[in-house]
Amino acid sequence: MRQVVMHAPGDVRVEDREDPTIIEPTDAIIRLSATCICGSDLWPYRGAEPVEHQVMGHEYVGVVEEVGDEVRTVKVGDFVVGSFWASDNTCEICRAGYQAYCVHRVPMGAIGTQSELARIPLADGTLVATPGMPDPDLIPSLMAASDVLGTGWFAAVAAEAGPGKTVAVVGDGAVGLLGVLAAKQLGAERILAISRHADRQALAREFGATHIVEERGEDGVAKVKELTNGLGAHPVIEAVGTQEAMMQAIHSTRPGGHVGFVGVSHDVAIPGDELFMAGVHIHGGPAPVRQYLPELIQLVWDRKIDPGKVFDLTLPLDKAAEGYQAMDQRTATKVLLLP
Ligand SMILES: [Zn+2]
Repeated sequence: MRQVVMHAPGDVRVEDREDPTIIEPTDAIIRLSATCICGSDLWPYRGAEPVEHQVMGHEYVGVVEEVGDEVRTVKVGDFVVGSFWASDNTCEICRAGYQAYCVHRVPMGAIGTQSELARIPLADGTLVATPGMPDPDLIPSLMAASDVLGTGWFAAVAAEAGPGKTVAVVGDGAVGLLGVLAAKQLGAERILAISRHADRQALAREFGATHIVEERGEDGVAKVKELTNGLGAHPVIEAVGTQEAMMQAIHSTRPGGHVGFVGVSHDVAIPGDELFMAGVHIHGGPAPVRQYLPELIQLVWDRKIDPGKVFDLTLPLDKAAEGYQAMDQRTATKVLLLP
């Protein structure tokens, strides 16, 4: 099969690799219908995380080709969606809704799903089958559910977005944009999208943003306060992962409000005195996407949401290197790869 391998920062190749096989009786093998490049794949690409001959990708949708002897809930021929942690969905942590911390979790990034085929561990717990074979135009949106939509959704839930609330969203990447969509679905009254890019502002509005804030850092905080009677937003989503974004999120939150943070933190250090004085709830981390998959798949299936619009570049898998370049240079928000 063909699979993406990052040899070193900036050096992405698509190579012939051995087809995966069933290792554990709880495994399934899927043939990918689509995969994609994540904003977090840019950290090693830019040299901000070490990388050496590493398989890439943790987002996936596809058709089950083979299942191990103990797999019960998915069968050969099913179209399935999974998330970036394989999880049993039965342990105490999973049952509490935190499948990203399953006691048996397996990181899909180590298996690499920017590929034609992939082995999915703990298939019964990890994979959710769609009601049938999807129309091709639904595939990007089902693909989004695998990570960026599920992650944006978790951020909105963690921030307690809901009816009557004014939500601020820091970050206009795919996750931030889908945080806007999630906040809208959860019934938020006003959604302030923080973005300086015209195309992303337009998509944010389409997904439900009622206001655009172009200012960043403390100027952005001042603008959010101005729009909320000086109080700050109740739920604030942080979908970047930098020091500036995290402090902007905390400072934009009103006392008693909630920050849902899902940007992968890089060198973020929250000063204790500022945290102490802020009086806000902070919850986030790797999203338990699996918890939301059944609901998100149904919303996509019923065509109530169209999160696949975050993909603004589609390439064949063999051109993955071009996709990485486009996301690195910000000429694309999110790249869909077709094996
Ligand atoms: Zn578990």
